[in-house]
Amino acid sequence: MIVVLKKQITETQKHAIKEFLKGHSFKVKEIVGQEETVLGAVGERRIDPREVLLLDGVLEVIPISKPYKLASRELKKSDTIVQVGNVKIGGNRIAVIAGPCAVESREQIMEVARKVRESGAVILRGGAFKPRTSPYSFQGLGEEGLKYLREAGDAYDMPIATEIVSPGDVDMMAGYIDMFQIGARNMQNFELLKAVGKTGMPVLLKRGLSATIEEWLMASEYLMASGTDQVILCERGIRTYESATRNTLDISAIPVVQKLTHLPVIADPSHATGLRDMVAPMSLSIIAAGASGFVVEVHNDPDKAFSDGPQSLYPQQFDKLMKDVEALCPVVGKSLVRTPRTRIISPDSAVPVSVQSDELVVAFQGERGAYSEQAVQHVFDAEVKTLACHLFKDAFEAVMTRKARYAVLPVENTLGGTVNEVLDLLNVYPDLTVVGERQIRIRHNLIGLQDATLEGVKRVFSHPQGIAQCSEFLTKEIPFAEAVPFFDTAGSVTHIVEIGDPSCVAIASENAAKRSGVKILRDGIETNSRNYTRFYVLTREEDAQEFRSSITADRVAMVFSVHDRPGSLFDVLKTLSDYGLNMKKLESRPIPGKPWEYSFFVESELIDMEKLHRASQEIIEHTDSFRILGTYKGDT
Ligand code: PEP
Ligand code: MN
Repeated sequence: MIVVLKKQITETQKHAIKEFLKGHSFKVKEIVGQEETVLGAVGERRIDPREVLLLDGVLEVIPISKPYKLASRELKKSDTIVQVGNVKIGGNRIAVIAGPCAVESREQIMEVARKVRESGAVILRGGAFKPRTSPYSFQGLGEEGLKYLREAGDAYDMPIATEIVSPGDVDMMAGYIDMFQIGARNMQNFELLKAVGKTGMPVLLKRGLSATIEEWLMASEYLMASGTDQVILCERGIRTYESATRNTLDISAIPVVQKLTHLPVIADPSHATGLRDMVAPMSLSIIAAGASGFVVEVHNDPDKAFSDGPQSLYPQQFDKLMKDVEALCPVVGKSLVRTPRTRIISPDSAVPVSVQSDELVVAFQGERGAYSEQAVQHVFDAEVKTLACHLFKDAFEAVMTRKARYAVLPVENTLGGTVNEVLDLLNVYPDLTVVGERQIRIRHNLIGLQDATLEGVKRVFSHPQGIAQCSEFLTKEIPFAEAVPFFDTAGSVTHIVEIGDPSCVAIASENAAKRSGVKILRDGIETNSRNYTRFYVLTREEDAQEFRSSITADRVAMVFSVHDRPGSLFDVLKTLSDYGLNMKKLESRPIPGKPWEYSFFVESELIDMEKLHRASQEIIEHTDSFRILGTYKGDT
């Protein structure tokens, strides 16, 4: 059952409730949500819920209707984020796990690890204990394989995941690996589930070859009841009468399961299809279906692989796939998880960055649930502490006065154009610098109170941009409604809640609706679905290194004003051209207090820091003022 606690509950009361439940043989788990704190109580015994309701501090007692309790969405509404080493999976992230079917030798796993890491995988897979259909097939290298896998993971800064087949191996394997994998053939090996669950470590739970979704979720319940809350579910194809592919990838299981559980769901297109040419299209469909990532088999020489060669990708196929995944992520409102650049190799980006700090606060403009807050969560993390600022200027001030370490502010929308106020403020706060860029897709929703209907709408509140961007829906579907401009989108949702009239609705993000506990009458109502806003990540100059150390900057933003003489702007642009700085954006802004004088704002590609430095020296000669606003990894 779910025991919802009163907001004003004291620690003593909470303790008494927990003790009462434990005294009745319940396992108790406290879940702190944004809106409420609940206790999940699971056990074999039944008690009359009214006994719990009578305890001080209890607001409500709700039975969990599903047979799986700890795994159920009824118990925990927010997405669980599973942490594997330094990689987080779940929420709005897409994480990719890759590696060979089996670890075959030290050289092989090192080579595959290097390749998949370079292309963007964040967790390395590889079997050391292989459950093979034939006793005569390669069974894996055992502990020796784990040693090689660990070495490769450490060398290329990737946590490692591998399959366990015997409860007796738990302790030995726990010493090497970051995540256990329970294979399809062992999904209902309950002794194995219990032994692995007890470690509290992350577990990748494959769906059984013929398991129903409920059986699969019950297997995750075994893991959770034994002591881990770090479970990732993995759809890997089920047995059907179809023989064209090795198994049948049950794509629809992804949204179904995601609705039933708070645990992250991923899928394995390699074992699902058995054919490498099917792996890339299926991976994309897995992302499109709403999964939190996928796991694929990649081999440096698939034709000589000891197992599953025909379904293993060539490294170059994997590389191409990762580029397509990167392009798809913003379309589904997700961010590709990248490993922060540490000691090795080439191209990397900064998103999402996990900056380890307790007092990490990020400022944004608008109310909670605003699109800008969503952007913060894409750059950092869904759990990062955010500071809602009324004005853009307040967000700049918050960083200046160290109330926030970073601010994430919009600079441009694909439909609405440049956010001039933010560009102008960059001039006013020279101590702040741009360290990152992030684009997110803007999806508007028509949001109303629980009893609102489309036919009954009289007034629609939103930011003027929100109203303009949904004009087609408004004129076609609810022409009788009056559009009312409001200060911001998320604020318009709080406003309709305050009015309490079901004929008043708002246009805002899904997050804003969730936060206010109101319903979405219609989603995706924007006229143009290719609607993106890009944001800058700003911080104080002296703190910039922390963010920048994990990225390779490939963009630079600068601002300058030129001498009043013929060709002065041309001189600057020529310098950019001379040093190979490919300009991506040029904007002019009036200089406050200097009528009819302008500053120019430029964004350019950046390949070579040394060249930027030399170009800057020259530009200073041609300008009245010049400042580099920041260098960052571009996201557009
Ligand atoms: C594997 O991932 O190597 C594997 C054997 O997968 P499954 O258990 O899904 O068959
Ligand atoms: Mn395999």
